[in-house]
Amino acid sequence: MTEEYFAAGRCLCGKISYTIFAPPRVMSQCHCDDCRKATGTGHASNAFFKQKDVHISGEPSSYGSVADNGFSVTRYFCPVCGSPLFGKLGSLKNSLAVAVGSLDDSSWFKPSAVVYNKHKPHWDFMDPGISVYEEMPPVVKK
Ligand SMILES: [Zn+2]
Ligand SMILES: [Zn+2]
Repeated sequence: MTEEYFAAGRCLCGKISYTIFAPPRVMSQCHCDDCRKATGTGHASNAFFKQKDVHISGEPSSYGSVADNGFSVTRYFCPVCGSPLFGKLGSLKNSLAVAVGSLDDSSWFKPSAVVYNKHKPHWDFMDPGISVYEEMPPVVKK
């Protein structure tokens, strides 16, 4: 049986892999303190899918924290190689963010917003055509 899928990806070591069956609903880049720490670079690039459209193989480890807007954030990563893979926002219960760098092919990724721009390091450059928010845009903040 061959199933049509939108995208697929995996962690560095291959212990965790996933397949996505529909296009993302939101694409964004976040420069908040937590995303910089969790990714080890200047921002996190995330594509948000419906949770049910992302089929995960393997058991990722997770770490929960509270964002400065008061919502919980759970980050999922490979327990063996540490690759960041997914994120879940307490405010978006039916969505799963996929760390775009873990995709096999991310050529379709086109963020519509840069958030937490106030924490952007001067060495991290962004497409000037993307909407920039100093914190979280109101629509996501609620
Ligand atoms: Zn791994
Ligand atoms: Zn962030």
